Amino acid sequence: MAPIQKNDYIDVVFEDLTHEGSGVAKIDGYPIFVPYGLPGEKAKIKVTKLNKGYGFGRLMELYEESPDRAEPPCPIYKQCGGCQLQHLSYEGQLKAKEKMVRELMTRIGKLEEVNVLPVLGMNEPWNYRNKAQVPVGEMEGGLVAGFYAKRSHEIIDMDECLIQFTENDEMVRLVKGICEKHGVKAYNEKQHKGTLRHIMVRTGQMTGELMIVLVTRTPDMPNRRKIIEEIVEAVPNITSIIQNVNTKRTNVILGDQTITLWGADVISDYIGDIKFEISPRSFYQVNPIQTKVLYDKTLEYADLSGHETVIDAYCGIGTISLFLAKKAKKVYGVEIVPEAIEDARKNAALNEITNVEFEVGEAETVIPNWYKQGITADTLVVDPPRKGCDENLLKTIAAMKPKKVVYVSCNPATLARDLRYLEDNGYKTVEVQPVDMFPQTMHVECVSQLILK
Ligand code: SAH
Repeated sequence: MAPIQKNDYIDVVFEDLTHEGSGVAKIDGYPIFVPYGLPGEKAKIKVTKLNKGYGFGRLMELYEESPDRAEPPCPIYKQCGGCQLQHLSYEGQLKAKEKMVRELMTRIGKLEEVNVLPVLGMNEPWNYRNKAQVPVGEMEGGLVAGFYAKRSHEIIDMDECLIQFTENDEMVRLVKGICEKHGVKAYNEKQHKGTLRHIMVRTGQMTGELMIVLVTRTPDMPNRRKIIEEIVEAVPNITSIIQNVNTKRTNVILGDQTITLWGADVISDYIGDIKFEISPRSFYQVNPIQTKVLYDKTLEYADLSGHETVIDAYCGIGTISLFLAKKAKKVYGVEIVPEAIEDARKNAALNEITNVEFEVGEAETVIPNWYKQGITADTLVVDPPRKGCDENLLKTIAAMKPKKVVYVSCNPATLARDLRYLEDNGYKTVEVQPVDMFPQTMHVECVSQLILK
């Protein structure tokens, strides 16, 4: 039983941060999670909810502030919830992320001795995102575009997002205005009516190319021609205007049908000296500056001399594959989204890289098949989505025995789980390097090197 009651006011000291960025205080061992509390701070809280093993509270008064506390610069920080750490200095954020990764390696991975390096952070941890995707709603007859208020489906209007490229914010404002002027109705989730669901903007940082995607519920859209003309007139340097049709009742943003309304089907960008073409539906890292840092580390850990065969699992549009191809004999990439593989093949051709081969499919199916056909790797790179690697893939790695495995991960919890599996099956984790791809949020990317024992 909880040693306290709901609606109690109590004085606490925060000891830790949760993975959602809340402060953790303990009352006779019973943990309470309090948004905006920072480790070391003394505060008065109000108990808002009690569960069996833990509770929640609201910060009422700070008696003693952490030296790492910062004034959140964003006016809608608390309503939005997209960022969780603006109230912590950037130095403090990097320390917190390092600690989080280290603790997961010990607790989930049982890797007591693993070397977790300090997080590689940004010099300017703002305006770093090259992609915006904002839901569109209606308020008092006008269009609003912004974000879902925390834990709700109500859309709140947003003029500017401080972690976005400023041009992305400008594009969202512009498109919202033009669509409103031409009588486009926002999609209504409850009734599954209306047209415009999301506005997505992607910018190629190095090329300045710009793509706008209008995600609609139906293929037809009122005044489509006029809307396109006005966007092009207002943004003469626009590269591509796309309509994506998502007919489903779903919170997945993009649907299956993609129509180019104006200009190119893709935009391009450079990472290092490799050029990439990116389709609206393909995954592309959102923080280009840190992507370079991450891939340089991946290349270093792959430790290639030019004679190796490399497998890049979860390859997306072939970014890591092409980055490694110049230093390897041959690279095989596998990825589940067909458009991404099309992009990957085009990107290889665009860069005149001929020692790569790509296949569409699940990594956990395709790689075992390759292995059966006699394709093995000296170095294997994985970069899975948040849920981590499928066990079938890990099993194949253990059988194939590549000398080096480089694991790129956007979720340190599943990374720790998978490192444990590989440690139990012949590998040693040399080190884990966290890279801050998502400043102001609790997310942290890691890259780690494993060697065959
Ligand atoms: N390495 C790439 C992409 C990493 S994101 C980059 O750095 O840009 C993870 C990718 O895994 C996504 O492109 C996603 O479409 C793909 N994916 C998800 N599940 C998969 C599976 N089971 N097999 C292969 N690819 C998968």
